[in-house]
Amino acid sequence: MGVRTGTAFIAGLRDSREVWLGDERVTDVTTHPAFRGAIESLARLYDMQHEPAYRELLTYPSPTTGEPVGLSFLIPRTREDLARRRQMIKTWADATCGMMGRSADFLNTMVTAWAAKRDYFAQQSPACAERVWRYYEDCREGDLFLTHALLDPQVDRVKNRAEQDDPYLCLRIAEETKQGLIVRGAKMVATAAPFADEILVWPFPPTLTEAEAPYAMVFIIPVAAPGLKIICRESFAHPDQYADHPLSARFDEMDAVAVFADVLVPWERVFLHGDTRLVAQMYVGTRIREMTAHQTNTRLLSKLEFVYGVLCLMAEAIGVQNAPAVQEVLGEAATYVEILRSTLLMGEQGAQVDPSNGVMYPALQPLQVGRTWGPRIYPRLMEIMRRLGAGGLMQLPASSAAFDSPIGRELEKYYRGARISAQDKVALFKLAWDLVGSDFGSRHTLYELYYAGDPSMLMAGFHREFDKAACVARVKEFLAQPSSTAGSAVRTGQRPVPPLE
Ligand SMILES: Cc1cc2nc3c(=O)[nH]c(=O)nc-3n(C[C@H](O)[C@H](O)[C@H](O)COP(=O)(O)OP(=O)(O)OC[C@H]3O[C@@H](n4cnc5c(N)ncnc54)[C@H](O)[C@@H]3O)c2cc1C
Repeated sequence: MGVRTGTAFIAGLRDSREVWLGDERVTDVTTHPAFRGAIESLARLYDMQHEPAYRELLTYPSPTTGEPVGLSFLIPRTREDLARRRQMIKTWADATCGMMGRSADFLNTMVTAWAAKRDYFAQQSPACAERVWRYYEDCREGDLFLTHALLDPQVDRVKNRAEQDDPYLCLRIAEETKQGLIVRGAKMVATAAPFADEILVWPFPPTLTEAEAPYAMVFIIPVAAPGLKIICRESFAHPDQYADHPLSARFDEMDAVAVFADVLVPWERVFLHGDTRLVAQMYVGTRIREMTAHQTNTRLLSKLEFVYGVLCLMAEAIGVQNAPAVQEVLGEAATYVEILRSTLLMGEQGAQVDPSNGVMYPALQPLQVGRTWGPRIYPRLMEIMRRLGAGGLMQLPASSAAFDSPIGRELEKYYRGARISAQDKVALFKLAWDLVGSDFGSRHTLYELYYAGDPSMLMAGFHREFDKAACVARVKEFLAQPSSTAGSAVRTGQRPVPPLE
């Protein structure tokens, strides 16, 4: 065991999984045009782990076998470990232009966070903690590709799970048997589910009333489990059309709903169940927030760098790179890259060891800034791209093959840029369109808005958790000054402002 090759990853997907694309039951996801491009991109990531140029960056020796295993399974004990994790994640993200939000390192990170805090699961039973640890080891040694399905179907968001008109609309425990839990209901939206090995399931948002105890569960299930149906959205992939659809040909991750028709989840894979308090607090209590934010911010940084690079090249392509108004928006885009980089590094710099398990966790607050600003930054970058590209995003031949057709000479003349050939400008602007305007691109803006949850809830949560005591106290102190001395609190040095560290 140890790190898998791309071929081994692909071979593992040829099983009895029930994947639906419209009215078609997909017999082999690995060859189907809707999935092939993304699967090949993921396979490439697995292959990179074996290449001498990347091996050190992407793997570390398994604590049990000494063989190389994926570095996203490394439980960080030092700041250097966190930096190594970031470099690993960034290397994979750069290889996919930041376009694959659910590459394997994301869920590897979640399982690793659970393993590091397995004591949390011991509150249900010591066996649960052991299961979590064993699963983490299996995953690490088998180099599995996981996804997750957390949300209830979007039916009536004002009612909780137990109040819906059908008790089995949201995923619910139907029966407890000797073998495990029988679960019935659905979960959305599981990105990459058609080509994942297994799916992690738990309820999000993690709010549960006592009446929702049958909905309180944390488990993992193979995608090929009997009774599990994966229902895909429309495909945005354009297989093999790298020139005309450079991103969607490679990176359409696919999103799906997982329908559980009385699926047996063996006890070995049940980590929590029936305890609303434990399940509700698991997200915060196992500190997966810190660990996954470190991963998602790194991935987003890679994507923002890529988008910024495209914007710079677009400006040059049409000769406007020195116009002050254009430089202003390019400068704005650059600040977004720097915001992500800074919050990530601040998260690492402020990392502290949790004395309960000796694990080095990055500081949450700076990372949450990246998480809360991502949904604002990305749509703004797309707005900048539309404004900059303007009609050029439409001045594109239907197919790049037109350059070899009788209209090729007209294209060479009229489709070129300021100092760029027509072929190169068309390639660049087709890339921009795939980011900003294609169905794939629209999905990415939606992804950045929602992948970490409802953006308004995220921002509101940041305010609730923010350490506001000192800020509020200073204002109160100012207001409490006699009117003749108001405004002099800082000068009088009654409460010196602590220096920035
Ligand atoms: C492209 C994409 C990929 C995703 N991938 C994954 C994945 O891999 N795994 C996964 O588990 N999830 C995934 N998600 C789901 C994601 O976590 C959710 O979209 C996000 O948490 C928001 O939940 P929702 O979509 O159910 O929105 P909803 O909760 O239905 O919200 C819709 C709107 O209604 C408002 N609203 C909701 N409830 C209330 C209320 N009670 N009162 C007033 N207003 C309300 C919200 O503010 C929002 O504006 C993905 C989503 C997208 C778009």
